[in-house]
Amino acid sequence: MEQKHITLPGVITVGDLATKLDIPIAKLIGELFKNGIVATVNQAIDFETAQIIVDELKLEVELEQEQEEPKIVARQIRELADDAEGRPPIVAVMGHVDHGKTSLLDAILGLKVVTGEAGGITQHISAYQTTHQDRAITFLDTPGHEAFSALRQHGAALTDVVIIVVAADDGVKPQTIEAIKFAQAANAKMIVAINKIDKPAADVNRTKQQLSEHNLLTEEWGGDTVMVEVSAKTGDGIDKLLDMILLVADIEELKADVSGEAEGLVIESHMETGRGPVVSLLVEHGFLTAGQFIVAGGAQGKVRTLTDFKDERLAKAGPSTPATVTGFKELPEFGDRFTVFKNEKEARAVAAAEHQSRKSSTGNMNMTSTELLTRISKSAKQQPVNFIVRADVQGSLTSVIDSLRLIENEELDIRVISSGVGSISENDVRMAAGSQAIIYGFNVTLPPTVKRLAAREKVSVRIFKVIYELIDDARDTLSALLSPEIIESEVGTLEIKGIFRVMRDTVICGGKVLSGKVTPNLLVRAKRGEEVLAEVEIQSLQREQQEVKEVFEGDMCGLQLKTKSKLQLEEGDILEFFTREAKARIL
Ligand code: GDP
Repeated sequence: MEQKHITLPGVITVGDLATKLDIPIAKLIGELFKNGIVATVNQAIDFETAQIIVDELKLEVELEQEQEEPKIVARQIRELADDAEGRPPIVAVMGHVDHGKTSLLDAILGLKVVTGEAGGITQHISAYQTTHQDRAITFLDTPGHEAFSALRQHGAALTDVVIIVVAADDGVKPQTIEAIKFAQAANAKMIVAINKIDKPAADVNRTKQQLSEHNLLTEEWGGDTVMVEVSAKTGDGIDKLLDMILLVADIEELKADVSGEAEGLVIESHMETGRGPVVSLLVEHGFLTAGQFIVAGGAQGKVRTLTDFKDERLAKAGPSTPATVTGFKELPEFGDRFTVFKNEKEARAVAAAEHQSRKSSTGNMNMTSTELLTRISKSAKQQPVNFIVRADVQGSLTSVIDSLRLIENEELDIRVISSGVGSISENDVRMAAGSQAIIYGFNVTLPPTVKRLAAREKVSVRIFKVIYELIDDARDTLSALLSPEIIESEVGTLEIKGIFRVMRDTVICGGKVLSGKVTPNLLVRAKRGEEVLAEVEIQSLQREQQEVKEVFEGDMCGLQLKTKSKLQLEEGDILEFFTREAKARIL
């Protein structure tokens, strides 16, 4: 048979996959089940899982994963009120690793951008503000590649100006190109900062030449891209860069509503011991103040403290202002929109509705390591599930461990067998391999040698930068280990009126339907009072000597029942008819 080529997205529902593979859904669900995954039609599985199923079913199919286009939420067009006012520009600094994004941000802000603060409290500040010529400019920090792609999905709608940092001694590199694409797709204005001009190896012309190959032509050469030569080290060109940002902002006439309720975006959130959810927001419209009722996604609360990026108390946070709030009762997610409500009741209702709708749409089990799951699921009942946790700082480590423990339930005994601050080591991987543990890393690195060892040992290492994403992943993974919930629904009851024959494994009897209806495909339980006598099967259902498909309440009927052993039914016994289905449980 010829091999078929099928392209799949990174994640696909069971139903869609069955259609693509041209196999019955039941067969696919059955195969997933064999692999320890209890899935329903609408659940999503990842490409890796699909591949395993295709291999196991020995289908003559070659799967290929679709290259996903970057998902970009373009700037939202909003009808502004007549009294809308000018607002500070929101600027993202992007570029290839080591080209000087962080250094440039440091130079602009005149402070060291650090993520650890006094007392070991984690503070992943991701937005800052500075003033230039008495005007505010907001910067979004996108330190790592993951933050970059997260911003790509959620923050694009916020970004007015993207500064593309290119090191003059290194030129245009893959992430430079990616940053350019991001800015274009987000419809943000671009300013190129050609950095490291203090270095002897700096070649500004060559850099401009390379940029022109990506349709960025400097104004000097007749193009319309603003390019500023800077040195984050000496500070040369920084003022000019800031002038240019303000100039671009002026041309764009950036405005925001000021009279309505505050709204904006969650740009970071994490748990802190003693403070609860600590949430960084970027206000888009209106003014946020302490004491307001706030909803972000399915989370709600009352703003208890409102501080700026330096952790100084703010009376109010207006458009384009990054602010950190405490007072949320749950952790909202990165990218959630927040809004403010006048009263608590309304806030609660909106959050609850959102929470519910998210819950019902998360039949999604995003398996990343099916093999591991299969290994665990064989032994998971009432058994410990082991985790090894590493985080960048103590505060995050505690939050991750505490949140993981919250997932524990009667079937899962969650054990953190090792934890600590610092990157993931070979030792961790060996320990995980020996104890079938999953390693979770929060904001830590995975050295290549350790990564290779993990692949060899088939140890699942999962690294996250946002706690709720880590917890969601753990929840999804563990949900797959839960035994399915058995749901029985009663369809009808019948009272035995006469016994005609009792054989070794068959009873022929007659009775009257007391409630509901009886059809031949139902499961049957025979009861005498409260006592369950046996579970039996219907072999034939008759009404007035005719084989029938259903009989209803009030009808008399005859039944041939199949029993496991000889069953002495009596007049007055009750037959209960019901259906039973298994439903995957979600933590
Ligand atoms: P990022 O990965 O883009 O955030 O880059 P960093 O800001 O961490 O900078 C990478 C390296 O380049 C660091 O060693 C910086 O000290 C150095 N660097 C950054 N900007 C300049 C500059 O303008 N001149 C010189 N000489 N070195 C720089």
